[in-house]
Amino acid sequence: MIGKISNVSEYSDMALRLGDYIEGGELLNLETNTTHGWLKLRGIAKPLGFELLGNPGKDLVGRHLRFECSASPLKCEERLDARNLQLPDRFIGATGTMTANHQTRLFDCSVEEFLRLCKRGTPPPTFWKRCVYLEWFGNCGRVLLELPDPRAYFVEVLEGKEIPFPLEPLPEPPLDQNDPTGESSPLEILEISTQDDDTLTINKTNISPDEEEDPYALFSDDFKKLIQTQEPVKTNTPDQAINYITSILDSSEEGAPLRSLIGPTPDWTQLDEKQVENHLKQTVALLALHNIAFHMCPHFTYADAARYLFEVLADQELANSQLKGTLWYVHYHTAEHCETCAKTYQTD
Ligand SMILES: [Zn+2]
Ligand SMILES: [Zn+2]
Repeated sequence: MIGKISNVSEYSDMALRLGDYIEGGELLNLETNTTHGWLKLRGIAKPLGFELLGNPGKDLVGRHLRFECSASPLKCEERLDARNLQLPDRFIGATGTMTANHQTRLFDCSVEEFLRLCKRGTPPPTFWKRCVYLEWFGNCGRVLLELPDPRAYFVEVLEGKEIPFPLEPLPEPPLDQNDPTGESSPLEILEISTQDDDTLTINKTNISPDEEEDPYALFSDDFKKLIQTQEPVKTNTPDQAINYITSILDSSEEGAPLRSLIGPTPDWTQLDEKQVENHLKQTVALLALHNIAFHMCPHFTYADAARYLFEVLADQELANSQLKGTLWYVHYHTAEHCETCAKTYQTD
């Protein structure tokens, strides 16, 4: 068995972690401001789509990434069946940190063995490996997909044919050959504790040195807490969902204005570009908890999109609170309010 030092952080337990359930998937960012794709989960025949507002990290911008669970001897994820996970039929929301250039440290033995050897003063060698790291916020709260040592490549289409392209080489690992223990690397195991039920808890610092200053980490810890205290999505069979939706549509409940979900329009003059993006993405993630998706066309900036949401849609649209947890979604798109899109569709 091969062990992995997990990226344990204060809020990690509140995330829906999909790494152990993934067989493979794709991520596409071919239009700016939209990141979509699908995930194949073990035990679930139909791939689950995701459609997110926002861009991934620099290495994935404009790219079509395909990834599969590791085939290397360092099989670092557990292979779990996703059938019992309570998942919706798709993921909606906004992008968090997304990169294929994350690095994680793996070792070639069980965690127990690793700890035993460390205590004896003879730590086993560790290996830095690439890790596909995809995080987003939306209808399942915070979702985190970490795929260490994956088979991953870019896909480009040339003359109708799919051509695989290798990922960019990783920057020098923080750990060098002469320092196999990692003692001088930024990664350190800070604390290892054994619980009553014999499970091990490992707390450690960042797995990659640039994580601290990640410009894509838009979501504050407070926001992560907030979104994780929301009710989890409940699973419905399509039949149940249709009956439920019919009963909602038959009922006279009008729903409350979107405004009641997203709050007042911020004073834009007080926010810089990054803060506007942050506010928009947090709002989109909160709306996603109510099965409301908000998409951007490539002609809008985050500021344009935020204004459209807060100044036009907020008071004009009603949110039906009963959609939450169903297979029914409401979609808004800036294309409905975009002159460039309107012209494009006219000439089509
Ligand atoms: Zn949509
Ligand atoms: Zn447009």
